[in-house]
Amino acid sequence: MLLPQSLPQSAPDVSAQLSPRRRTSLLTTGVVDRSRVLDTLVDNLDGMAYRCRHDARWTMIFVSQGCRALTGYTPGELVGNACISWEQLTHADDRARVRACIDAALRAGQRFAVQYRIATRAGQAKWVVERGMGVADEQGEAVIEGFIEDVSERQATLEALEHAELRYRHIFEHASEGIFQTTPAGRYLAANPALARLYGYATPQALIADLAELDRRLYVSPGRRGEFRRLMETQGEVLNFESEVYRRDGSRLWISENAHIVRGPQGEILCYEGTVQDISERRHYQAQLERQANHDLLTGLPNRSLLKDRIEQGIARAARLGHCLALVFIDLDNFKFINDSLGHAAGDELLVEIAARLGACLRDSDTVARLGGDEFVLLLNDHRGVSTVISVLERVLHAIGRPLRLAGRDFQVGASLGVALYPDDCADAQSLLRHADVAMYAAKARGRNNFQFFTRELNCVAEERLNLEAAMRIALERDAFDVHYQPKVDHRRRIVGVEALARWRDAVLGAVAPDRFIPIAEETGLILALTTAILRRAFVAARRWNRGRAMPLRIAVNLSPRLFLGDGLVAHVAGLLDEAGLAPELVELEITESVFAGDGEAAVAILRGFKALGVSLAMDDFGTGYSSLSYLRRFPLDIIKIDRSLVTGLEHEEEVAMIARAVISLGQSLRKTVVAEGVETPAQFDFLRGQGCDEFQGYLLSRPLPEAALTRLLAAGDVITGGRA
Ligand code: C2E
Ligand code: MG
Ligand code: MG
Repeated sequence: MLLPQSLPQSAPDVSAQLSPRRRTSLLTTGVVDRSRVLDTLVDNLDGMAYRCRHDARWTMIFVSQGCRALTGYTPGELVGNACISWEQLTHADDRARVRACIDAALRAGQRFAVQYRIATRAGQAKWVVERGMGVADEQGEAVIEGFIEDVSERQATLEALEHAELRYRHIFEHASEGIFQTTPAGRYLAANPALARLYGYATPQALIADLAELDRRLYVSPGRRGEFRRLMETQGEVLNFESEVYRRDGSRLWISENAHIVRGPQGEILCYEGTVQDISERRHYQAQLERQANHDLLTGLPNRSLLKDRIEQGIARAARLGHCLALVFIDLDNFKFINDSLGHAAGDELLVEIAARLGACLRDSDTVARLGGDEFVLLLNDHRGVSTVISVLERVLHAIGRPLRLAGRDFQVGASLGVALYPDDCADAQSLLRHADVAMYAAKARGRNNFQFFTRELNCVAEERLNLEAAMRIALERDAFDVHYQPKVDHRRRIVGVEALARWRDAVLGAVAPDRFIPIAEETGLILALTTAILRRAFVAARRWNRGRAMPLRIAVNLSPRLFLGDGLVAHVAGLLDEAGLAPELVELEITESVFAGDGEAAVAILRGFKALGVSLAMDDFGTGYSSLSYLRRFPLDIIKIDRSLVTGLEHEEEVAMIARAVISLGQSLRKTVVAEGVETPAQFDFLRGQGCDEFQGYLLSRPLPEAALTRLLAAGDVITGGRA
């Protein structure tokens, strides 16, 4: 054990331990009995004065009274090793060291001071400091004289301090957070290894030696150190002070600092002291979350929520500057077709490409956002009038229309653009979006690949549409859609089937025709629920009508082309057949040509699924569209329904009659059942029957009837005899 530096190296000044009053009186009396004074002094010391031989056992020649308190032995027991020698009292582990120290001092003729342990009479271990020197005694023999004092308490305190130091140092050295002390001016006084690592230094020493001028070399944003100091000076501390900082190699990280001022006894500032935490990862995730919350993942464009902010900012700016703001709703024509036929990867590619093209058409101050699907929105700032907006729109249409290559093929997409203006059309973000949407629908209806500005009239139409949609949702929830059935007869006017036709009477809107509500159901996705409701009723009714009937009564139901875009259509219909307990052979599903407009292959797969199920398939409204012959050849159709327009015209226009004739003979040669719909006059009926038409449907035979009325009609017999029912 090394001696603490504070211990004096010289022999003790004994008089220093006396009270000042006694010291003065001793010095001033003049007549002094020196030996009495010394005895008193020596015996009153806290510790033991001694003289001993320089022998193997340190045999005591004299010890002062202090030996009792120090060792528990009386002077008589120690002197002459009467009871125990000093060598024995000395801790066995310390003996050699003590002896070496004393020997060396004696050889050199110097004083010694040595600290070691002794064992008291009671067996207690004590730390002592022994100071002494070799002297010659009265007979000239070499002896040692000195003083031994108990330093156990001081030693215990020192040890405790050392342990505490060690513990704190451990925390400091091994903390995962960076810990520092700096001067207010920014020089490092201390840094732990974690801080060194964080800032890219090999050791704390390297950091302390190198890092200065913190405002320039540590903090990325200028003035950040100044802000740190300002907070320290005004509040005495900083809490969760987040900054971006440079590492030694110039890379950056985000840190959070907690620090406070350390003051001296007089309140003077000693240093700043604090911790540094690396929060780069949290910052990164935060930024990512913010991005995700505000941007579309596929294209990286702002999403609906960010767009709303931008519109609000744009409105405020336009109001301030007296400019006009244009919001453009874009819907790609035929996106669904590409997505369905080429797959989602190609669809994604298309969207990313269009996003890039839109961005290239605009100025930096404008915004392109994606709301989802193929819906994009442009926010055009700082226009003074409509004419400059129009030139942007033309540029956008042109950019979208440029051919693009997907999956090895060239495609051309168009777009329908709807525009609403601030302040002309509306004054808030929500209405701007709504009005641009309304205008976009009008553009779509006008024939695609064009733009349409919002007008009040458009708004009325849109509002009506919205009302209709809302009412339809309620009607579906309440199962309020009804079904009427229109009979089909064969050439002998025997009823061979009925077509189920949806009917809707709304309490407020009155009777709404299928031509009005079917398109809306298709656009809003309500068509599946509507079709399900119709199929359910029709299948149950058909099952009842066929019970105990000699000639089977087939039920025909219309399927919207939209349904062919979803999955599981065949299974869905099969489930409903099961539910109603109706044989598939009694069912005809009517489809239209537009089923093949999208992914023809997928549609054919669905039709094959239906064939496998056992139901028949009818091509409705044949003769109105392209009516391609190849449909009839390639697709597994059983029935062709000649459209009403051909039937109506055949009496008056020879050309129409020719077409009707051609369709019938075509159907016959392809072995399809040919049905004429919209037969209103006996002349039409006779003509069509004469041409070999198989079945007939129309007002001449019967209007569509409610279920109960049809039940009565069937009960009256299988043949419809009269003119109009
Ligand atoms: P569609 O499938 O071609 O149905 C025939 C339409 O012609 C029916 O009109 C029917 O009432 C009408 N009609 C029948 N005979 C005559 C006639 O002699 N003269 C005249 N002027 N009209 C006649 P409705 O019921 O208004 O249905 C119109 C269209 O709505 C249907 O045409 C069909 O495409 C669609 N539709 C009706 N119900 C449904 C349904 O449940 N689902 C789907 N997807 N579409 C349906
Ligand atoms: Mg039909
Ligand atoms: Mg039809």
